[in-house]
Amino acid sequence: MKVLVTGGAGFIGSHFVRTMPDAEVTVLDALTYAGDRANIEGVPHEFVHGDLCDAELLGKVVPGHDIVFHFAAESHVDRSIAGAQNFVRTNVLGTQTLLQACLEAEIPKVVQVSTDEVYGTIETGSWTEDEPLAPRSPYAATKASADLIALAYHTTYGLPVSITRCGNNYGPYQFPEKVIPLFITNLLEGKKVPLYGDGGNVRDWIHADDHCRAIRLVGQVGEPGEIYHVAGTAELTNNELTQHLLDAMGADWSSVEHVADRKGHDRRYSLDDSKLRALGYAPQTSFADGLAQTVRWYSDNPSWWKSKR
Ligand code: NAD
Repeated sequence: MKVLVTGGAGFIGSHFVRTMPDAEVTVLDALTYAGDRANIEGVPHEFVHGDLCDAELLGKVVPGHDIVFHFAAESHVDRSIAGAQNFVRTNVLGTQTLLQACLEAEIPKVVQVSTDEVYGTIETGSWTEDEPLAPRSPYAATKASADLIALAYHTTYGLPVSITRCGNNYGPYQFPEKVIPLFITNLLEGKKVPLYGDGGNVRDWIHADDHCRAIRLVGQVGEPGEIYHVAGTAELTNNELTQHLLDAMGADWSSVEHVADRKGHDRRYSLDDSKLRALGYAPQTSFADGLAQTVRWYSDNPSWWKSKR
């Protein structure tokens, strides 16, 4: 089985590559600030250093694979607020360039890895896969655009692409700009942690390994043209998340600095994942175990994150 993983040197993509021991894996990654070959050191794979938007390169790399898992993206909402152009280029143009290469190479299965953020924000209840898209940040708008292009390639050309949409991931190897590794590494260095607004924003957390398990399943049995939600295992306000992190690090609220809220900050995301569960998926990592493992990993691997801060 020949598998192409775009963005395989990033956070979730590298978890995915580490958990594909039986496949012949090619990783295509531009190694932006978020990509690091050290994340997949010692894991068998062929590495191609290149840009998703490079159609000529994709025309050479993509053919011959049995399945393409598309993780590569600009992924940090705050960076998209500071400047959206790279997000449009990689997430929209890059995705279209990849889909076109997959179409020309007649790839039998493509999985587009997406996010709950495409739906905007929801006060109560949970979204199902037929919820209309209403993205509110530039990041979310580019992911929604990529999903629409993927669906259009399915409808128009019959490209066998499925989409996964997941909540907030955590785990080892996450770039220390995202809230969990940012807070852990700040606390490890004796610094304060910045908490946005009133801390009441709600996110549904999932360990990256569970997310990858779901993506693999969709790769195996997901229907082309269909979307599958991957819900988390712990719906928490940022205040509750902060309390968990302070407890895990032996710190208290004197280490918390309240900062101005993120612009356009979505209040709550929540996914109904019954459709995926009907395929046999269930998460395996409790938030308590996953967070303890994650804290241990950052404590044990300062050389990985210190160079990224
Ligand atoms: P990440 O930022 O850690 O990694 C992204 C990877 O893509 C990096 O290795 C980077 O070098 C590579 N990349 C960026 N631009 C590229 C380009 N033009 N060409 C080739 N490679 C390029 O991201 P992540 O958190 O691992 O997210 C992976 C995917 O999962 C993304 O598509 C993201 O939207 C999606 N997702 C993430 C989360 C989350 O909580 N992190 C939740 C749901 C969905």
